[in-house]
Amino acid sequence: MNNENLIKILVENNQPNYRTAQIQKAIYQDGVSGFSEISTISKELRELLTKELNILSFMVEKVLVSKDNCSIKALLKLADGEKIETVLLSSGPGKWSVCLSSQVGCALNCQFCATGKGGFKRNLTAEEITDQVLFWRQYLNKNQNANLKMQNDNLRNTISSIVYMGMGEPFLNWEEVKKSLHDFVDKKLFAFGSRSISISTAGISEGIEKFADEFPQVNLAISLHFASDVKRNAYMPINKKYNLASLKKVLQDYFSKTNRQVFIEYIMLSGINDSEEDAHALSTYLKSIGKRQLLHVNLIAYNETGSLFKASSGNKVHLFKDYLEKGGMSVTIRKSLGQEVQGACGQLAGEA
Ligand code: SAH
Repeated sequence: MNNENLIKILVENNQPNYRTAQIQKAIYQDGVSGFSEISTISKELRELLTKELNILSFMVEKVLVSKDNCSIKALLKLADGEKIETVLLSSGPGKWSVCLSSQVGCALNCQFCATGKGGFKRNLTAEEITDQVLFWRQYLNKNQNANLKMQNDNLRNTISSIVYMGMGEPFLNWEEVKKSLHDFVDKKLFAFGSRSISISTAGISEGIEKFADEFPQVNLAISLHFASDVKRNAYMPINKKYNLASLKKVLQDYFSKTNRQVFIEYIMLSGINDSEEDAHALSTYLKSIGKRQLLHVNLIAYNETGSLFKASSGNKVHLFKDYLEKGGMSVTIRKSLGQEVQGACGQLAGEA
């Protein structure tokens, strides 16, 4: 929902400020699906708002729920007919994480990722970005109110984190992503803590710099995946513009500005980046950045997308982890959620 339009309509209709606050709370925090559900305001005002304003800027085309009810993917149709996806993932009992898209498609064309295959269509507006969370708040709200077939107690609960890890490169849509972050942390609107939000980037230097200055408390994740320029160039063409040396420099600046931990994402691709030599290259590169205690490596199981890439074996992943740990790195093997609904990282293609 466009909050500025809401305020404009309420001002034009001589509504007091507390009324605005009531409506914002109902929409952004309680997750009502329509103005007609807001019982604290008059019938006339409910009707006026229904006529003048859409709460969601898109239509929901499809919702896919995994068998265990722990990952749910929605296909959304935007006003111009373009399609995006967003995923709700259980991140523990009673806790949900929303994975957001920031663009329709993606220009980066990483070889292993399904989103890049369809090319780049357009940036999302801040409203289209934040509406993905509004949609999931409504979804959780409806399912717990109606006590629908979702028997999972998790669905009674709340969204505790947001990750910009859906379709698109957030730092190539910085202005709108920035607006969306402001709305997410705004106490009158979504009221998320900065530290419960994470942005993932393939390493756009200018974006990381602005992000460090403006949102030092929001988490940063880097999709590194390769620790040699030769390999990174081959699989992530963006590395030709922002290579490993430039990424190192920008991370050093990030640490000196924020002193915050950075998550290094490393998908494990069988025979491509999972050898001992690759582990050595990664360890050497990360050490050369200089702030080992602020770097945390997530080794991610590759979600097969019908491409030629295969996931590394569990044994390989453990050997890789051991190698890094011996070098003093902190490492987690990340289990992959959402595979069953094709809603795991890199599987989003806008065509469920
Ligand atoms: N463009 C941003 C945001 C997308 S986040 C970025 O690159 O960080 C999506 C994450 O999933 C990225 O780390 C991406 O590299 C990773 N990914 C892409 N395809 C994947 C796949 N098939 N399996 C697992 N992770 C994948």
